[in-house]
Amino acid sequence: MNPFMKRAVELAIDNVHDGGQPFGAVLVHDQQIIAEGVNTLHKTYDISGHAELLAIRKAQEKLQTNDLSGYTMYASGEPCPMCLTAMYFAGIENVYYCCSLEDAVQVGLGKSKEIYQNLQKNKEERSLTMIQMPLEKGQVNPMKLWKEHK
Ligand SMILES: [Zn+2]
Repeated sequence: MNPFMKRAVELAIDNVHDGGQPFGAVLVHDQQIIAEGVNTLHKTYDISGHAELLAIRKAQEKLQTNDLSGYTMYASGEPCPMCLTAMYFAGIENVYYCCSLEDAVQVGLGKSKEIYQNLQKNKEERSLTMIQMPLEKGQVNPMKLWKEHK
């Protein structure tokens, strides 16, 4: 197995022994591990405590950048929509994963697959209600304000 994936799986196994979910991730650049992460939902009240997201957060903090293009993510499990989106924002273009969403479903970790399916629906058909509340007359438009400040 690829050594970076091997490390991600190792992190996942260690996390299970620690009482957590079976997810580990390793962020790599130029054949070097820049940051690692594991799922921390068993330790912190933070829904964003996913392995990939934490690896990204650590790398960004370490390198003081929002741009991780050219970095490669190795995740022990197929990334959820939240982590995938974070990777898009960070400019990460290559992701390798070991266990699939289906593997996760089979052990009772089906939320990611559920969300992917939900996101494919039209906005009106999703389980999460999202309604626009436009600005009222006279209110400062933060978007326009930002454009003027650029
Ligand atoms: Zn995730």
